[in-house]
Amino acid sequence: TVFDALTGRFGDIFDRLKKRGALSEEDVGAVMREVRVALLEADVALPVVKDFVTRVRERAVGAEVLRSITPGQQVVKIVHDELVAMLGAESETIDLAAVAPVPVLMVGLQGSGKTTTTAKIALRLKDKERKRVLMASLDVRRPAAQEQLRVLGEQAGVPTLPIVAGQQPVEIARRAMETGRLEGYDVVLLDTAGRLSIDEALMDEVVAVRDATKPHETLLVVDAMTGQDAVETAKRFDERVTLTGIVMTRVDGDARGGAALSMRAVTGKPIKLLGVGERIDALESFHPERVAGRILGMGDVVSLVEKAAETIDRDEAEKTLAKLEKGNFDLDDFAGQLRQMRRMGGLGGIMNMLPGVAKMKAQMANANVDDGMLKKQEAIISSMTKRERKDPLKILNASRRRRIATGSGTEVADVNRLLKQFQQMQDAMKQMKKLGKKGFLRQMAG
Ligand code: GDP
Repeated sequence: TVFDALTGRFGDIFDRLKKRGALSEEDVGAVMREVRVALLEADVALPVVKDFVTRVRERAVGAEVLRSITPGQQVVKIVHDELVAMLGAESETIDLAAVAPVPVLMVGLQGSGKTTTTAKIALRLKDKERKRVLMASLDVRRPAAQEQLRVLGEQAGVPTLPIVAGQQPVEIARRAMETGRLEGYDVVLLDTAGRLSIDEALMDEVVAVRDATKPHETLLVVDAMTGQDAVETAKRFDERVTLTGIVMTRVDGDARGGAALSMRAVTGKPIKLLGVGERIDALESFHPERVAGRILGMGDVVSLVEKAAETIDRDEAEKTLAKLEKGNFDLDDFAGQLRQMRRMGGLGGIMNMLPGVAKMKAQMANANVDDGMLKKQEAIISSMTKRERKDPLKILNASRRRRIATGSGTEVADVNRLLKQFQQMQDAMKQMKKLGKKGFLRQMAG
């Protein structure tokens, strides 16, 4: 595929890196220069490459190397994570959450694979999402275009709007929507005409169709083989018709894959699907994780580092346990716990290992332990004196609570909520103590 060349390059770079012991800042610098060249050669846009390299370098230099992995492995993981971020982190699908029939507008240059892709999407929606799909070709310039879509529709088992000679694109689009309504279709795919290059007539036509149909999705089909031109095309279309997503075709080819990598970062538009062949079922969802994994070819390293990170969390949990046994778990520890939960993407860590804690987890979820909440709570805790943090439940009377709220820019209700959570946490800790250290450790190991 278009990612193969990059996979090879990264493989060489990281195989050498993985085996190394300690890494100096210069070592990381040298590796990142190689990564930079590899990305540029793969035709990733220069600003995207620069940004990427800077971010990896910052994280790599600042990173604490986890026990049981090598610094090189750590760097591979950071590169992986940043690659995923560059590709858009979440995988996005075609959004059909609108009043049926949902209009989906397909736009793109001629030869990009737009008509084929329209049929591919129709087939996928029909088979995988059990949607009733109607397709309509709005291409009245290329004489065979409407017929081409009809033939593809037959292959896919998806109906196409009957062709009426002499109708113009906006009329056809309106008729398609009307038919969709009358005949109870879920989705209407509108395949607009392409041109060899972007011109005003093409854009005006697309805009007119958009205004007439108010599409819920406007998908641009671009050819991965055209490299940076594909990114440029996306920018131009987005300016005029506001795209909701990109479908990249010919990803099965051997062109350089940089366009796919830059697309999200440059245009801000998600790649939603990949065309991977001429067959009508050669369409894949775009999963940033999977693409990054394919490019790096280092799934083993990535999962190794993730495991090592879990070990660290376990170490922290053990420290907290030791404190608990001495009976001095205080608000500082509580703040640490909140941070850890946040880092683990939710109420994880020690909380998960505590017996009878499900109720508190639900309460904390209700209390909305998100970034903002966490910052607030940390502000509250840092507005307390050391003595207050050590034994908050005894000391904090109403006037102290008011002072802390003012000092942290919060409300007394926030302070009260925090203290209640702390109380619940302590109760859970007491329960855990009853269970005994041995039982607790057994749970953690399992
Ligand atoms: P349009 O002018 O944009 O509508 O392009 P078409 O849909 O007619 O496609 C042009 C050619 O590209 C056809 O021969 C398709 O089979 C081929 N094609 C479309 N998508 C892909 C793809 O993902 N991979 C490959 N290899 N060929 C594709």
